[in-house]
Amino acid sequence: MTTITEGGVEIAGGELQDAAARLDVKIRQEWQESERSMVRLAGLLSRMREQALWTYLIDLRPTCKACGRQKLPCRNPCTCVEPEFAPGTKPYARFSDYVTAVTGLAHTTLYDRLAIYGLTQGSDALDPKDVEEMGAKNAAEIAKLDPKDRTEDVIEAAKKESTRKVKKLVQEKLNEKLDPEERKDPTFMFARNLDEPTIELIEEIEKNGIWIEAVRNGDKSVSQLVKLWNYVWARFVLDYGEELEEGRRYREAMEAAAVRDAEEDEPGDGPPDPESHEATLQAMGNDLPR
Ligand SMILES: [Zn+2]
Repeated sequence: MTTITEGGVEIAGGELQDAAARLDVKIRQEWQESERSMVRLAGLLSRMREQALWTYLIDLRPTCKACGRQKLPCRNPCTCVEPEFAPGTKPYARFSDYVTAVTGLAHTTLYDRLAIYGLTQGSDALDPKDVEEMGAKNAAEIAKLDPKDRTEDVIEAAKKESTRKVKKLVQEKLNEKLDPEERKDPTFMFARNLDEPTIELIEEIEKNGIWIEAVRNGDKSVSQLVKLWNYVWARFVLDYGEELEEGRRYREAMEAAAVRDAEEDEPGDGPPDPESHEATLQAMGNDLPR
């Protein structure tokens, strides 16, 4: 029988070291696999964590000879002026360090994977094939639900729908169990490529905007920022309703003209013929505000 001594480094015998080394090789192989299985990988990592086998492994990542710290992107990287790095000689300090060293995954991603593995375990286990079909992001959402809430329709949705839809569905299920004032609306990343001055303008408005009276309304189901953005765009609709209506007519005329062009354009790729050009102008003219 082997025991772990202080610091988790030394053990009697060497069985745990051997087991750790073998499991380490398996994990690295699975990670390198071109068709690696998320479920299998999470299972191997879970075993590495539960049996604390990672504490027997040496963190070989380059370590500064002077200060003993590692390169970026670690938590506490070396800041020496001209550092000289050599492979590390100490065991991993944390399980998440081990996972990052092997996979490059951040530990939040890691916990998603372990949660996904949990989906395939126990008496309410899901079929691993279903979990694979969901993909990592949707499966991580499903893992937030109690086993009895993982109903057939939820599982089918997770296999077919976008992560945004699944996240919303899961949040609705979670909300059912919360008091009304504790319920949260799910939020989503929403990206646009904007130029620097526009971004500065938005950020400047956000700074004070989240504290204007219309936004300080005590609703805690979404953040102040969500409420501000909603307010800004809702305000735009109120103030520029006529302009938006004119914009809609303009767009529809352009789209109709593009369809006509595509239909008439079959013979050649020349410039638009005068007739269809005239029709476009007329369509736009007819639709301008009276
Ligand atoms: Zn250093």
